[in-house]
Parts: sequence; C-alpha cells; structure tokens
Amino acid sequence: MINEIKISKKDIELIQVELESNKPYEACGVLIGTISGGTAHVEKALPVTNVKRTRTSFELDPKEHYNAWNEAEKSGKEIVGVYHTHPVSSAVPSLWDRETMQNDTSVWLIAGADGMRAYVWGNGIKAVKIIQY
Ligand SMILES: [Zn+2]
Repeated sequence: MINEIKISKKDIELIQVELESNKPYEACGVLIGTISGGTAHVEKALPVTNVKRTRTSFELDPKEHYNAWNEAEKSGKEIVGVYHTHPVSSAVPSLWDRETMQNDTSVWLIAGADGMRAYVWGNGIKAVKIIQY
C-alpha cells in the first residue's frame, strides 16, 4: 500500500492556483507518475474539467481522464492519484469522497481551505505522507 507521495513544489503551486481560480467550485485533476514500493512519485499534475462543477463534489471529465490515462500509458507511466479541491472546507474526505474512494486504489490528494492532505483507501481511510521535492 502507498504510504507516501512525492510531488514537486511546482505541482503543489499549480493545485493551489486551481483551488483559487475555481472558487467557489471544486477543481480536480490527475497525478501522473510512477509507483515504487510504498511511494507514489508524481511527475506531473494535470488539471481535468470538473463536469459536476459543484461546491461539494467533483467528477473528472471522462474523455479528458481517458486521454490522460492514454498519454501516461504511452510514456510508461500511470495515473498514481487524483487531486481535488475543497475551497470552503478542510482537506478531509467528504462522505461522497469516502464512498468513491472505495472503488479507487490510487492516492487522493485534497487541497482544502486549511492546506493539503493525501489519503488512500485500504479497509478505511489511511493518511499518506506528502513529501515536497
Ligand atoms: Zn472532496
């Protein structure tokens, strides 16, 4: 199971900009990179349209999501995680997030009003350590 995620300062800043510029709606995207051992190494954060465009939930545009997956695959990488923002609440998975996470083994990175946290589902919510590089 993944227990830490490495992400560049540049990608963290990009997600912060997405959080601010999509307020009051949630923004979302995918994290592309590689996984080795218990570490997810993010090489690129890629914004994806939130087709729900609400203040409390998100849904990745299916076509953009597929294209991102395809691009990652072609370069020998994978989608190691998904990020989304909580513009007006803390970086804690909502009830909807928890239900959705159960069908997704990747890392969930949430940028909330109080900072960024990451989680993975494994018989419950587990915290994933964020390491900035
Ligand atoms: Zn959420």
